[in-house]
Amino acid sequence: MTWDPIQKSARQAGGANLTDYERERREFSWPAARRSLRGLPGGRGLNIAYEAVDRHLDTPRRDQVALRCVGGDDTVTELTYRDLHVATDRFAGVLRGLGVGKGERVFTLLGRVPDLYVTVLGTLKNLGVLSPLFPAFGPEPIRERLRLGDGRVLVTTPELYARKIAAIRETLPGLKHVLVTGEGPAPQGTVPLGELMAGAPAGFEIPPTDPEDMALLHFTSGTTGRPKGAVHVHEAVLAHRVTAAYALDLRPSDVFWCTADPGWVTGMSYGVIAPLSLGLTLVADAGEFDARRWYRVLRDQRVSVWYTSPTALRMLMHHGGALAREYDLSGLRFVASVGEPLNPEAAVWGLRALGLPVHDNWWQTETGAIMIGNFAALDIKPGSMGRPLPGIEAALLERGENGRARVADGRVRVVEEPDVEGELALRPGWPSMFRGYLNEPELYAKAFAGGWYLSGDVARRDEDGYFWFVARADDVIKSAGHLIGPFEVESALMEHPAVAEAGVIGKPDPVAGELVKAFVTLNPGFEPGERLRLELIAFGRRRLGAVAPKEIAFDQDLPHTRSGKVMRRLLKARELGLPEGDLSTLESPARAVPGR
Ligand code: ATP
Ligand code: MG
Repeated sequence: MTWDPIQKSARQAGGANLTDYERERREFSWPAARRSLRGLPGGRGLNIAYEAVDRHLDTPRRDQVALRCVGGDDTVTELTYRDLHVATDRFAGVLRGLGVGKGERVFTLLGRVPDLYVTVLGTLKNLGVLSPLFPAFGPEPIRERLRLGDGRVLVTTPELYARKIAAIRETLPGLKHVLVTGEGPAPQGTVPLGELMAGAPAGFEIPPTDPEDMALLHFTSGTTGRPKGAVHVHEAVLAHRVTAAYALDLRPSDVFWCTADPGWVTGMSYGVIAPLSLGLTLVADAGEFDARRWYRVLRDQRVSVWYTSPTALRMLMHHGGALAREYDLSGLRFVASVGEPLNPEAAVWGLRALGLPVHDNWWQTETGAIMIGNFAALDIKPGSMGRPLPGIEAALLERGENGRARVADGRVRVVEEPDVEGELALRPGWPSMFRGYLNEPELYAKAFAGGWYLSGDVARRDEDGYFWFVARADDVIKSAGHLIGPFEVESALMEHPAVAEAGVIGKPDPVAGELVKAFVTLNPGFEPGERLRLELIAFGRRRLGAVAPKEIAFDQDLPHTRSGKVMRRLLKARELGLPEGDLSTLESPARAVPGR
């Protein structure tokens, strides 16, 4: 089924239109955009924390709420920009007092509480490198990341320490300081953060910061294999700020909620840095996903711009549009999604249930910021990731046998024709581009060819310049001469009222090479059974023809990564009885946490 574009009214697009988009792209330059940043006083460089916090101090925004944390019990804690300035200065002083210096790694294992934001920004003030751990990780993935990242300091809660760190502490000799939050007694071997903060000097002068100084260490989601540590630098803040304004339509008057956990790159780039650098009010919700709770947060906090994930939207769809309409969401004016392909069904559902379409956008841990998006000014083509942002050059590269860009004598061929699939590539040079995979220089070198960064994703571009995600290069299914992206098949199945979610893999087949197999999760009220199975196969065939799934299995617990993506490689390994590989980012089925 083809979906009609969702046309923007001038009001929705803030008066902007396609011509504005094209003009922006023509006229944009990163050096000119750099002037929107303040830079450290006295020309001492560029520091993320200064741009996020201290730059607002000599403006009326200093007394505005910077951060509003909604606790699990619905209590709200607010920090103004001035409060955040004072606390982050103190935390930077704590690190200095401990003798923790430039480039040393500070890890967080915290929920979305004020201490998390203070630790992140205070570390950056002290020129430390911040690496956030997703709090739902078990001890093993935590140990692995602390070890790989050479963690010197860890900030966590006494409970998380007891449950996840105490037993592995001895295996981490490099971890010198564990600081624990809260009022209660600190477990043995840890130091209460509160005491250190109280004893730290007020005020902290950020040392000169080279924009190329390492700032953040983010591990990828591990969807295709072992997580990789992507290194980001202070200059990234320029891309965070600019892309948030373009692709999320963020303005200083907004109340913004990013549902991604700051343990993932989205939750850091857009859940901390970008919104604060724009001087708006950031909402952080500590509670777990619950459809009513999320609608309540949107309504009660008067969220105006909402950034979430396809998994979250699918879970809300599962609860039906009527539930959404019970809540007054009139404050909301822009909704965006990232992390996985956004099924057209979901983009359109937004329009029906929330009164707003969902703007998909595409990027990776490696790119540090949004690269391709459905802008406020552009009509949305449901199912498309949108168009490249100003300052971003994207292309599709012709692919070789292994499904990745074909490189011959160090050269690649750019696909110019519309609607031809190729490996999605980006011209290096944007500020938030990763500067390396930690300790893996060969892997980093392999990510570039012929003057392009190779994303590992396959996409196509239509004649209007919109990019369409096809598959991760490793997920492409080859069946009877067809190349099939699982996403297209999953989206088609989701158009059937019984199907809440689907995961599609290629299963070796002596005749076809591979055959398409789908695992589907059913909506409430539908029973798995032979009749429904045959109906779904027929439905798939009507929609998709030759690329329709030949086999369908029911699975109410599709494996997801902790960042909310369907783990097709695991479905495949299980189907074939192969080793399951690195499962450190596998979400326990009972507790899906949406949002990369
Ligand atoms: P790993 O690299 O460890 O296998 P990962 O690629 O899932 O994990 P992330 O950097 O979190 O780690 O995710 C980036 C990937 O997510 C992209 O390469 C793409 O495959 C997918 N993705 C992100 N946004 C979109 C989108 N809007 N549409 C389709 N796919 C998306
Ligand atoms: Mg990846």
